[in-house]
Amino acid sequence: MTNDKIEYELKGLYEHLHLDEDVYDYCSKIEKSLKERFEAIDQVAEYNQLKAIHAMQKNRVSERHFAGTTGYGYDDDGRDTLEKVYADIFHTEDALVRPHITCGTHALTVALSGNLRPGDELLSPVGKPYDTLEGVIGIRPEVGSLAEYGVTYRQVELLEDGSFDYPAIEKAINEKTKLVTIQRSKGYLPRPTFSVQQIGELISFVKKIKPDVICMVDNCYGEFVETIEPSDVGADMCVGSLIKNPGGGLAPSGGYIVGRKDCVERAAYRLTAPGLGKELGANLGVNRALYQGLFLAPQVTASALKSAIFAANIYESLGFKVVPNSTESRHDIIQAVVPGTAEGVIAFCKGIQAAAPVDSYVTPEPWAMPGYDCDVIMAAGAFISGSSIELSADGPIKPPYAVYFQGGLTWHHGKFGIMMSLQKMKEAGLVHLPL
Ligand SMILES: *Cc1c(COP(=O)(O)O)cnc(C)c1O
Repeated sequence: MTNDKIEYELKGLYEHLHLDEDVYDYCSKIEKSLKERFEAIDQVAEYNQLKAIHAMQKNRVSERHFAGTTGYGYDDDGRDTLEKVYADIFHTEDALVRPHITCGTHALTVALSGNLRPGDELLSPVGKPYDTLEGVIGIRPEVGSLAEYGVTYRQVELLEDGSFDYPAIEKAINEKTKLVTIQRSKGYLPRPTFSVQQIGELISFVKKIKPDVICMVDNCYGEFVETIEPSDVGADMCVGSLIKNPGGGLAPSGGYIVGRKDCVERAAYRLTAPGLGKELGANLGVNRALYQGLFLAPQVTASALKSAIFAANIYESLGFKVVPNSTESRHDIIQAVVPGTAEGVIAFCKGIQAAAPVDSYVTPEPWAMPGYDCDVIMAAGAFISGSSIELSADGPIKPPYAVYFQGGLTWHHGKFGIMMSLQKMKEAGLVHLPL
């Protein structure tokens, strides 16, 4: 078939999937304008793909590493080798990569509580951390928080323009400061995501003032977006979730901590038990998915990035606020679009849901979710429950009426989801496509 013929049939198929021709045409035009941007993303993906393959070859990954273990999990060679592969990719001395780590918050909790002792102080020089960390640290009182164990906390706000307040950071570092936590991704806050280079500059600054302080980076949503990771620029620990970027959509559960050997060991002593550490923990047969997911992760992350940039360009061109904007460089996979009304947020999420491979027939509705001070609408049709490397969107029903979305295991699914969001916005009379 010629390209024209495929294009014709493609349009027919999209129509069959309830996407109007004018939406398709508008989005196609935007897609064509992004060719160079996408090529640059593919180049980063190629680099990271080779980095992953190199690490797997070096550690002689083989079929036997995919076998499951049970019980204590002594001598789980697949588990130990996977950790060596992670350590090589992140260029660290050691790694803890486990399906038993429940989520990103748990990985961060293990890293923090393993490395902090009563009387120590934790410093966040980048403003408020991710919501769930508030309970972990004790910013919001919670049973078993670090605060309950006598770990104090200090926070330095970012400057107005989102940059680091170096004089205030210097003042905040004191004899008790043991660990500095740096969140790479903005998460759901209105501040820029930091580049790896910026994080490196901050770490150098902190280490100049206090060389023995442990610098930890919350790397969630940032893995494989650039060719280097925070561990390449001085971070003592990088921490993240396997149901985000590094799991490649295949990891059924888990988290990782990579970094200095002593830091990782203290974390492992917390995850299992003092004296046991990394030696225990049966992988229960999920090794293959963790390896294969890591192998796919550079490509999957590239797909998510393309989807984010595509959405930014479409919605910005239609007059909506988008963060990051259509041309900014990217350091994580999260995209915010501001429809500006509750109806817009709902329509956007309905479109994402309608494009899902799983649960496409359900209609998401806003509801009062625990932990939120307003109704929230969530769209997700994922193979792995809650996986936010898969195409997903959520929007709190309150001003500024923004939707945060991320993911797309494949670029073509991301593209379809975003086109469907526009379709639903159009059907609700909230956008008018220029002719
Ligand atoms: C996702 C995320 C976390 C951890 O969230 P979980 O839902 O517990 O996996 C922490 N920090 C950031 C920046 C995140 O994006």
